[in-house]
Amino acid sequence: MLKDKRYFLFDIDGTLAVDETLYDGTKELLDYIEEIGGKSFYITNNSVKSRKDYIEKFARWGIRAEASQFMTASYATCEYLKAHYAGKKLFVLGTPSFRKEVEECGLFVTEQVEPDVACVVAGFDRTLHYGKIETACELLLRTEVDYIGTNPDYRCPTAFGFVPDCGGICEMLKVTVDRTPYYVGKPNPEIVRMCMEQVNARPEEVLVVGDRLYTDIACGINAGVQTALVYTGEAKPEDLKETEYMPDYAFADIRTLLQAFKRAKGE
Ligand SMILES: [Mg+2]
Repeated sequence: MLKDKRYFLFDIDGTLAVDETLYDGTKELLDYIEEIGGKSFYITNNSVKSRKDYIEKFARWGIRAEASQFMTASYATCEYLKAHYAGKKLFVLGTPSFRKEVEECGLFVTEQVEPDVACVVAGFDRTLHYGKIETACELLLRTEVDYIGTNPDYRCPTAFGFVPDCGGICEMLKVTVDRTPYYVGKPNPEIVRMCMEQVNARPEEVLVVGDRLYTDIACGINAGVQTALVYTGEAKPEDLKETEYMPDYAFADIRTLLQAFKRAKGE
């Protein structure tokens, strides 16, 4: 039930904010969660911004936040790689900053085809060039090489429309080598579990909040926790008629969620 929630896992874009603009009610909701002794986490499939970038962005909105609250797709991927590929060699199809993030986790990265590469790691690579694609293909055609992707999103919004995101780049590789990566970002429930572990949360205390059914809401459902949809981003009320990812709650916006939560708490 809504009144039992203490740990809120928020998507950012289209849920709490759009670009640089914070939505009305976001700050009050985050403050209220802190007031009741809860904690907010920010789970995002954005694999370009680091946790530090997000801390700075939130500071510009007047919101204090610490690194542990941000569960980005690139961070979650690094955690996954640490757990499964320590001491092994990886090929990273990603930006220099993502590659650096992987190396800073103590993982070993190569830029070429070598016999002992254990895994190809694909991210939202805005520095992609044909040489990297060729290397990735050669490695992926070896069945013993694993394949991990940061996030399954096909496209990323820009000022003029869209550009290919990690999922879009991986689709190009799929039609070439017939392989799809294991994506660590939403809707993989791993990202929810990483937040819950930090605070020893029980499932009934957790609410995943987002604006997309097939990533945010699906992620909460996959993790076995309740979900709330807000209509300030991608999903529209009519989408609920035929979705396989039905949220437990749906609100016009984040302020309406705050009001409903306060009412549920008897305020
Ligand atoms: Mg969103």
